[in-house]
Amino acid sequence: MNNLVIPLTDIRSIIPPISGDDSSGSLKDTRGRVMSDLRISVTDRCNFRCVYCMPKTVFGRDYPFLPHGDLLSFEEIFRIARLFVERGVSKIRLTGGEPLLRRNIEKLVEMLATLPGIELTLTTNGSLLRKKAQSLHDAGLQRVTVSLDALDDATFRKMNDVDFPVSQVLDGIAAAEAAGLAPVKVNMVVKRGTNDHAILQMARHFKGSVTKPGHIVRFIEYMDVGSSNGWKLDEVLSSSAVVGLINNEMPLEAIGPNYPGEVAERWRYQDGSGEIGVISSVTQAFCSSCTRARLSTEGKLYTCLFAQSGHDLRALLRAGRSDTEISGALGAIWGVRSDRYSEIRTAETAAQKKIEMSYIGG
Ligand code: SAM
Ligand code: SF4
Ligand code: SF4
Repeated sequence: MNNLVIPLTDIRSIIPPISGDDSSGSLKDTRGRVMSDLRISVTDRCNFRCVYCMPKTVFGRDYPFLPHGDLLSFEEIFRIARLFVERGVSKIRLTGGEPLLRRNIEKLVEMLATLPGIELTLTTNGSLLRKKAQSLHDAGLQRVTVSLDALDDATFRKMNDVDFPVSQVLDGIAAAEAAGLAPVKVNMVVKRGTNDHAILQMARHFKGSVTKPGHIVRFIEYMDVGSSNGWKLDEVLSSSAVVGLINNEMPLEAIGPNYPGEVAERWRYQDGSGEIGVISSVTQAFCSSCTRARLSTEGKLYTCLFAQSGHDLRALLRAGRSDTEISGALGAIWGVRSDRYSEIRTAETAAQKKIEMSYIGG
Protein backbone atom coordinates (compact mmCIF):
# COMPACT_ATOMS: atom_id res chain seq x y z
CA MET A 1 0.00 0.00 0.00
CA ASN A 2 1.52 3.33 -0.91
CA ASN A 3 1.31 6.44 1.16
CA LEU A 4 -1.84 8.09 -0.19
CA VAL A 5 -3.29 11.28 1.20
CA ILE A 6 -6.70 9.60 0.94
CA PRO A 7 -7.55 7.24 3.77
CA LEU A 8 -9.13 4.02 2.56
CA THR A 9 -12.49 3.33 4.11
CA ASP A 10 -14.35 0.10 4.50
CA ILE A 11 -17.36 0.04 2.19
CA ARG A 12 -19.40 -1.98 4.69
CA SER A 13 -19.22 0.78 7.24
CA ILE A 14 -20.37 3.55 4.92
CA ILE A 15 -22.98 2.03 2.67
CA PRO A 16 -26.28 1.61 4.46
CA PRO A 17 -28.27 -1.57 3.78
CA ILE A 18 -28.98 -1.86 0.08
CA SER A 19 -32.63 -2.56 0.84
CA GLY A 20 -32.87 1.12 1.88
CA ASP A 21 -33.22 2.08 -1.77
CA ASP A 22 -35.52 0.57 -4.37
CA SER A 23 -32.71 0.62 -7.00
CA SER A 24 -34.75 2.37 -9.65
CA GLY A 25 -35.52 5.90 -10.77
CA SER A 26 -33.69 9.17 -10.23
CA LEU A 27 -32.18 10.12 -6.92
CA LYS A 28 -32.71 13.02 -4.52
CA ASP A 29 -30.51 13.87 -1.58
CA THR A 30 -31.59 15.20 1.82
CA ARG A 31 -31.83 18.73 0.38
CA GLY A 32 -33.92 17.64 -2.62
CA ARG A 33 -31.01 17.87 -5.08
CA VAL A 34 -31.34 15.42 -7.94
CA MET A 35 -28.21 13.54 -9.03
CA SER A 36 -27.69 14.43 -12.69
CA ASP A 37 -23.97 14.95 -13.40
CA LEU A 38 -21.09 12.56 -13.06
CA ARG A 39 -17.43 13.57 -13.22
CA ILE A 40 -15.03 10.73 -13.75
CA SER A 41 -11.34 11.12 -12.94
CA VAL A 42 -9.52 8.72 -15.27
CA THR A 43 -6.03 9.38 -13.91
CA ASP A 44 -4.48 11.11 -10.91
CA ARG A 45 -1.38 11.99 -12.97
CA CYS A 46 -0.68 15.18 -14.83
CA ASN A 47 2.08 16.63 -16.97
CA PHE A 48 1.48 20.11 -15.49
CA ARG A 49 2.10 21.31 -11.96
CA CYS A 50 -0.38 24.19 -11.81
CA VAL A 51 0.41 26.19 -8.72
CA TYR A 52 -3.20 26.12 -7.50
CA CYS A 53 -3.72 22.38 -8.05
CA MET A 54 -0.57 20.22 -7.98
CA PRO A 55 2.22 22.38 -6.57
CA LYS A 56 5.67 20.93 -7.23
CA THR A 57 6.60 21.08 -3.59
CA VAL A 58 3.97 18.42 -2.85
CA PHE A 59 3.66 16.62 -6.19
CA GLY A 60 7.38 16.06 -6.66
CA ARG A 61 9.30 13.18 -8.23
CA ASP A 62 8.56 10.86 -5.34
CA TYR A 63 4.84 11.53 -5.11
CA PRO A 64 3.02 8.19 -4.74
CA PHE A 65 0.60 8.25 -7.66
CA LEU A 66 -1.74 5.29 -7.90
CA PRO A 67 -0.33 2.10 -9.42
CA HIS A 68 -2.12 0.99 -12.59
CA GLY A 69 -3.89 -1.93 -10.91
CA ASP A 70 -5.66 0.46 -8.53
CA LEU A 71 -7.26 2.40 -11.36
CA LEU A 72 -10.70 1.43 -12.54
CA SER A 73 -10.48 -0.33 -15.89
CA PHE A 74 -12.52 1.04 -18.80
CA GLU A 75 -14.97 -1.85 -18.36
CA GLU A 76 -15.39 -0.98 -14.69
CA ILE A 77 -15.86 2.72 -15.44
CA PHE A 78 -18.41 1.91 -18.11
CA ARG A 79 -20.37 -0.38 -15.83
CA ILE A 80 -20.57 2.19 -13.05
CA ALA A 81 -21.41 4.97 -15.52
CA ARG A 82 -24.22 2.87 -16.97
CA LEU A 83 -25.68 2.38 -13.50
CA PHE A 84 -25.40 6.13 -12.81
CA VAL A 85 -27.23 6.84 -16.07
CA GLU A 86 -29.97 4.42 -15.06
CA ARG A 87 -30.31 6.44 -11.84
CA GLY A 88 -30.75 9.75 -13.65
CA VAL A 89 -27.31 11.02 -14.68
CA SER A 90 -27.49 12.76 -18.04
CA LYS A 91 -24.09 14.45 -18.20
CA ILE A 92 -20.71 12.79 -17.94
CA ARG A 93 -17.44 14.71 -17.84
CA LEU A 94 -14.07 12.97 -18.07
CA THR A 95 -11.40 14.68 -16.06
CA GLY A 96 -8.41 14.04 -13.81
CA GLY A 97 -5.44 14.70 -13.43
CA GLU A 98 -4.94 15.12 -17.12
CA PRO A 99 -7.44 12.79 -18.83
CA LEU A 100 -5.63 12.76 -22.15
CA LEU A 101 -2.69 11.05 -20.44
CA ARG A 102 -4.79 7.93 -19.88
CA ARG A 103 -3.79 5.52 -22.60
CA ASN A 104 -6.50 4.81 -25.21
CA ILE A 105 -8.87 7.34 -23.68
CA GLU A 106 -10.70 7.38 -27.03
CA LYS A 107 -11.76 3.79 -26.36
CA LEU A 108 -13.45 4.85 -23.11
CA VAL A 109 -15.12 7.76 -24.91
CA GLU A 110 -16.41 5.35 -27.51
CA MET A 111 -17.86 3.07 -24.83
CA LEU A 112 -19.49 5.90 -22.85
CA ALA A 113 -20.92 7.47 -25.99
CA THR A 114 -23.18 4.42 -26.37
CA LEU A 115 -25.03 5.30 -23.16
CA PRO A 116 -28.48 6.59 -24.07
CA GLY A 117 -29.22 10.32 -23.92
CA ILE A 118 -26.03 11.51 -22.25
CA GLU A 119 -23.99 14.62 -22.87
CA LEU A 120 -20.34 13.56 -22.92
CA THR A 121 -17.60 16.12 -22.33
CA LEU A 122 -14.01 16.30 -21.14
CA THR A 123 -11.84 18.83 -19.31
CA THR A 124 -8.20 19.03 -20.35
CA ASN A 125 -5.14 21.21 -19.99
CA GLY A 126 -4.97 21.13 -23.80
CA SER A 127 -1.37 19.96 -24.03
CA LEU A 128 -2.27 16.86 -26.07
CA LEU A 129 -5.37 18.21 -27.73
CA ARG A 130 -3.83 19.08 -31.06
CA LYS A 131 -2.99 15.40 -31.48
CA LYS A 132 -6.19 13.97 -30.05
CA ALA A 133 -9.07 16.34 -30.87
CA GLN A 134 -10.15 14.57 -34.05
CA SER A 135 -9.98 11.05 -32.65
CA LEU A 136 -11.90 12.13 -29.53
CA HIS A 137 -14.60 13.69 -31.67
CA ASP A 138 -14.76 10.61 -33.89
CA ALA A 139 -15.11 8.43 -30.79
CA GLY A 140 -18.21 10.39 -29.75
CA LEU A 141 -16.99 13.23 -27.53
CA GLN A 142 -19.36 16.18 -27.86
CA ARG A 143 -17.53 19.09 -26.30
CA VAL A 144 -14.32 19.97 -24.58
CA THR A 145 -13.31 22.41 -21.85
CA VAL A 146 -9.73 23.62 -21.96
CA SER A 147 -7.97 25.15 -18.98
CA LEU A 148 -5.88 28.16 -19.87
CA ASP A 149 -4.73 30.62 -17.23
CA ALA A 150 -3.06 33.30 -19.34
CA LEU A 151 -2.21 34.14 -22.94
CA ASP A 152 1.19 35.64 -22.35
CA ASP A 153 3.75 32.89 -22.36
CA ALA A 154 5.61 33.98 -19.25
CA THR A 155 2.50 34.01 -17.05
CA PHE A 156 1.22 30.76 -18.53
CA ARG A 157 4.52 29.01 -17.86
CA LYS A 158 4.50 30.37 -14.33
CA MET A 159 1.00 28.96 -13.73
CA ASN A 160 1.68 25.47 -15.18
CA ASP A 161 5.16 25.45 -13.57
CA VAL A 162 6.58 22.97 -16.11
CA ASP A 163 7.56 25.56 -18.70
CA PHE A 164 4.83 24.49 -21.11
CA PRO A 165 4.32 27.03 -23.90
CA VAL A 166 0.92 28.65 -24.38
CA SER A 167 1.11 28.32 -28.18
CA GLN A 168 0.59 24.57 -27.97
CA VAL A 169 -2.59 24.94 -25.94
CA LEU A 170 -3.88 27.53 -28.42
CA ASP A 171 -3.13 25.05 -31.21
CA GLY A 172 -5.11 22.46 -29.25
CA ILE A 173 -8.11 24.80 -28.99
CA ALA A 174 -7.93 25.43 -32.74
CA ALA A 175 -7.76 21.69 -33.38
CA ALA A 176 -10.81 21.14 -31.17
CA GLU A 177 -12.72 23.74 -33.15
CA ALA A 178 -11.66 22.19 -36.45
CA ALA A 179 -12.68 18.75 -35.23
CA GLY A 180 -16.22 19.89 -34.38
CA LEU A 181 -15.84 20.18 -30.60
CA ALA A 182 -16.73 23.91 -30.57
CA PRO A 183 -17.74 26.09 -28.93
CA VAL A 184 -14.85 25.36 -26.64
CA LYS A 185 -15.18 26.45 -23.03
CA VAL A 186 -11.95 27.95 -21.75
CA ASN A 187 -11.43 27.82 -17.98
CA MET A 188 -9.20 30.41 -16.36
CA VAL A 189 -8.52 30.10 -12.64
CA VAL A 190 -7.80 33.59 -11.36
CA LYS A 191 -5.22 33.80 -8.62
CA ARG A 192 -4.85 37.33 -7.38
CA GLY A 193 -1.32 38.61 -7.70
CA THR A 194 -0.30 35.81 -10.07
CA ASN A 195 -2.45 35.97 -13.21
CA ASP A 196 -5.18 38.57 -12.58
CA HIS A 197 -3.36 40.97 -14.90
CA ALA A 198 -4.17 38.49 -17.70
CA ILE A 199 -7.97 38.73 -17.43
CA LEU A 200 -8.62 41.47 -19.98
CA GLN A 201 -6.28 40.01 -22.57
CA MET A 202 -8.06 36.68 -22.20
CA ALA A 203 -11.50 38.26 -22.60
CA ARG A 204 -10.41 40.27 -25.65
CA HIS A 205 -8.78 37.29 -27.33
CA PHE A 206 -11.78 34.96 -27.10
CA LYS A 207 -14.48 37.58 -27.69
CA GLY A 208 -16.10 36.87 -31.02
CA SER A 209 -17.71 39.16 -33.55
CA VAL A 210 -21.41 39.81 -34.09
CA THR A 211 -21.50 37.20 -36.84
CA LYS A 212 -19.20 34.66 -35.23
CA PRO A 213 -19.37 34.20 -31.47
CA GLY A 214 -16.06 33.26 -29.90
CA HIS A 215 -15.24 30.53 -27.44
CA ILE A 216 -16.64 30.96 -23.95
CA VAL A 217 -14.12 31.94 -21.28
CA ARG A 218 -15.12 31.11 -17.73
CA PHE A 219 -13.27 32.89 -14.96
CA ILE A 220 -13.04 30.64 -11.91
CA GLU A 221 -12.45 31.83 -8.38
CA TYR A 222 -9.37 30.23 -6.88
CA MET A 223 -10.61 27.56 -4.47
CA ASP A 224 -9.35 25.84 -1.33
CA VAL A 225 -9.52 22.38 -2.92
CA GLY A 226 -7.24 19.68 -1.57
CA SER A 227 -4.66 20.32 1.12
CA SER A 228 -1.59 21.29 -0.80
CA ASN A 229 -2.10 24.59 -2.59
CA GLY A 230 -1.66 26.78 0.50
CA TRP A 231 -4.90 28.63 -0.32
CA LYS A 232 -5.47 32.06 1.21
CA LEU A 233 -8.63 34.08 0.93
CA ASP A 234 -6.74 37.22 -0.07
CA GLU A 235 -5.51 35.42 -3.19
CA VAL A 236 -9.10 35.07 -4.42
CA LEU A 237 -10.32 37.69 -6.85
CA SER A 238 -14.10 37.77 -6.71
CA SER A 239 -16.16 37.13 -9.82
CA SER A 240 -17.86 40.48 -9.33
CA ALA A 241 -14.47 42.18 -9.61
CA VAL A 242 -13.75 40.21 -12.80
CA VAL A 243 -17.09 41.17 -14.33
CA GLY A 244 -16.54 44.81 -13.32
CA LEU A 245 -13.13 44.89 -14.96
CA ILE A 246 -14.32 43.44 -18.26
CA ASN A 247 -17.53 45.47 -18.25
CA ASN A 248 -15.53 48.72 -18.04
CA GLU A 249 -13.97 48.02 -21.39
CA MET A 250 -16.48 45.70 -23.09
CA PRO A 251 -19.99 46.29 -21.71
CA LEU A 252 -21.73 43.17 -20.45
CA GLU A 253 -25.26 42.20 -19.47
CA ALA A 254 -26.39 39.28 -17.33
CA ILE A 255 -28.19 36.39 -18.99
CA GLY A 256 -30.04 33.46 -17.48
CA PRO A 257 -28.69 29.94 -17.10
CA ASN A 258 -28.85 27.41 -19.93
CA TYR A 259 -30.40 24.93 -17.50
CA PRO A 260 -31.28 24.89 -13.79
CA GLY A 261 -28.23 24.44 -11.58
CA GLU A 262 -25.69 25.68 -14.14
CA VAL A 263 -22.49 26.39 -12.24
CA ALA A 264 -21.26 29.34 -14.32
CA GLU A 265 -23.12 32.62 -14.12
CA ARG A 266 -23.47 33.89 -17.70
CA TRP A 267 -22.79 37.39 -19.04
CA ARG A 268 -23.02 38.44 -22.68
CA TYR A 269 -21.32 41.26 -24.52
CA GLN A 270 -23.83 43.99 -25.25
CA ASP A 271 -22.54 44.26 -28.81
CA GLY A 272 -23.65 40.67 -29.49
CA SER A 273 -20.18 39.20 -29.79
CA GLY A 274 -20.57 36.26 -27.47
CA GLU A 275 -20.48 35.59 -23.76
CA ILE A 276 -18.31 34.84 -20.75
CA GLY A 277 -19.03 32.93 -17.55
CA VAL A 278 -17.93 33.33 -13.97
CA ILE A 279 -17.74 30.53 -11.43
CA SER A 280 -17.95 31.95 -7.94
CA SER A 281 -17.51 28.95 -5.71
CA VAL A 282 -15.98 31.09 -2.97
CA THR A 283 -17.99 34.30 -2.96
CA GLN A 284 -21.41 32.94 -4.02
CA ALA A 285 -21.89 29.33 -3.02
CA PHE A 286 -24.10 27.30 -5.33
CA CYS A 287 -24.46 24.21 -3.14
CA SER A 288 -28.25 24.46 -3.11
CA SER A 289 -28.34 23.41 -6.75
CA CYS A 290 -25.35 21.07 -6.79
CA THR A 291 -26.23 17.91 -8.71
CA ARG A 292 -22.72 16.53 -9.20
CA ALA A 293 -21.28 13.19 -8.18
CA ARG A 294 -17.59 12.44 -8.60
CA LEU A 295 -15.94 9.11 -9.28
CA SER A 296 -12.27 9.09 -8.31
CA THR A 297 -9.49 7.40 -10.25
CA GLU A 298 -9.62 4.33 -8.05
CA GLY A 299 -13.40 4.09 -7.98
CA LYS A 300 -14.51 6.00 -4.93
CA LEU A 301 -17.70 8.00 -5.08
CA TYR A 302 -17.51 11.52 -3.64
CA THR A 303 -20.59 13.64 -3.23
CA CYS A 304 -18.70 16.91 -2.78
CA LEU A 305 -15.53 18.41 -4.23
CA PHE A 306 -14.41 19.23 -0.70
CA ALA A 307 -15.15 15.82 0.80
CA GLN A 308 -12.78 14.21 3.24
CA SER A 309 -13.70 10.64 2.39
CA GLY A 310 -15.42 8.67 -0.35
CA HIS A 311 -17.39 5.48 -0.88
CA ASP A 312 -15.50 2.56 -2.34
CA LEU A 313 -17.46 1.37 -5.38
CA ARG A 314 -14.46 -0.52 -6.73
CA ALA A 315 -14.71 -2.86 -3.75
CA LEU A 316 -18.27 -3.67 -4.75
CA LEU A 317 -17.33 -4.22 -8.39
CA ARG A 318 -14.40 -6.44 -7.55
CA ALA A 319 -16.40 -8.42 -4.97
CA GLY A 320 -18.76 -9.48 -7.74
CA ARG A 321 -21.79 -7.53 -6.51
CA SER A 322 -24.75 -7.38 -8.90
CA ASP A 323 -25.96 -4.33 -10.83
CA THR A 324 -28.96 -4.16 -8.50
CA GLU A 325 -26.75 -4.11 -5.44
CA ILE A 326 -24.42 -1.44 -6.82
CA SER A 327 -27.32 0.66 -8.01
CA GLY A 328 -28.83 0.32 -4.55
CA ALA A 329 -25.56 1.54 -3.06
CA LEU A 330 -25.62 4.62 -5.32
CA GLY A 331 -29.14 5.35 -4.14
CA ALA A 332 -28.25 4.88 -0.51
CA ILE A 333 -25.18 7.14 -0.73
CA TRP A 334 -26.96 9.93 -2.59
CA GLY A 335 -30.04 9.60 -0.38
CA VAL A 336 -28.11 10.63 2.73
CA ARG A 337 -26.07 13.37 1.03
CA SER A 338 -26.15 16.72 2.82
CA ASP A 339 -22.97 18.41 1.51
CA ARG A 340 -22.77 22.19 1.40
CA TYR A 341 -19.13 22.97 1.97
CA SER A 342 -18.99 26.28 0.10
CA GLU A 343 -21.90 27.61 2.15
CA ILE A 344 -20.10 26.96 5.41
CA ARG A 345 -16.48 27.65 4.41
CA THR A 346 -14.32 29.27 7.10
CA ALA A 347 -10.60 29.69 7.61
CA GLU A 348 -10.78 26.52 9.75
CA THR A 349 -12.53 24.40 7.10
CA ALA A 350 -10.11 25.68 4.45
CA ALA A 351 -7.23 24.32 6.53
CA GLN A 352 -8.81 20.86 6.90
CA LYS A 353 -7.34 17.87 5.09
CA LYS A 354 -9.36 17.34 1.89
CA ILE A 355 -9.12 15.17 -1.18
CA GLU A 356 -6.79 16.50 -3.89
CA MET A 357 -8.62 17.77 -6.96
CA SER A 358 -6.34 15.87 -9.34
CA TYR A 359 -7.53 12.61 -7.72
CA ILE A 360 -11.21 13.37 -7.26
CA GLY A 361 -11.62 15.07 -10.65
CA GLY A 362 -12.23 18.79 -11.17
N1 SAM B 1 -6.10 18.61 -16.07
C1 SAM B 1 -7.34 19.04 -16.58
C2 SAM B 1 -7.42 20.54 -16.66
O1 SAM B 1 -6.60 21.21 -16.04
O2 SAM B 1 -8.32 21.01 -17.33
C3 SAM B 1 -8.55 18.48 -15.84
C4 SAM B 1 -8.46 18.40 -14.35
S1 SAM B 1 -8.39 19.97 -13.50
C5 SAM B 1 -8.31 19.46 -11.82
C6 SAM B 1 -10.05 20.55 -13.72
C7 SAM B 1 -10.28 22.01 -13.50
O3 SAM B 1 -10.07 22.31 -12.15
C8 SAM B 1 -9.37 22.92 -14.30
O4 SAM B 1 -10.13 23.82 -15.07
C9 SAM B 1 -8.59 23.64 -13.23
O5 SAM B 1 -8.25 24.92 -13.63
C10 SAM B 1 -9.54 23.60 -12.05
N2 SAM B 1 -8.88 23.80 -10.76
C11 SAM B 1 -7.86 23.07 -10.26
N3 SAM B 1 -7.49 23.55 -9.05
C12 SAM B 1 -8.30 24.61 -8.79
C13 SAM B 1 -8.41 25.54 -7.70
N4 SAM B 1 -7.61 25.48 -6.65
N5 SAM B 1 -9.36 26.48 -7.78
C14 SAM B 1 -10.18 26.56 -8.86
N6 SAM B 1 -10.13 25.70 -9.89
C15 SAM B 1 -9.19 24.76 -9.88
FE1 SF4 C 1 -2.94 19.23 -14.02
FE2 SF4 C 1 -5.32 20.23 -14.51
FE3 SF4 C 1 -4.35 20.25 -12.02
FE4 SF4 C 1 -3.25 21.82 -13.82
S1 SF4 C 1 -5.38 21.94 -13.08
S2 SF4 C 1 -2.16 20.49 -12.41
S3 SF4 C 1 -3.45 20.65 -15.65
S4 SF4 C 1 -4.89 18.47 -13.19
FE1 SF4 D 1 -21.39 20.93 -4.56
FE2 SF4 D 1 -19.76 20.56 -2.50
FE3 SF4 D 1 -19.22 22.46 -4.33
FE4 SF4 D 1 -21.28 22.77 -2.61
S1 SF4 D 1 -19.13 22.67 -2.10
S2 SF4 D 1 -21.30 23.15 -4.84
S3 SF4 D 1 -21.98 20.63 -2.42
S4 SF4 D 1 -19.27 20.24 -4.69
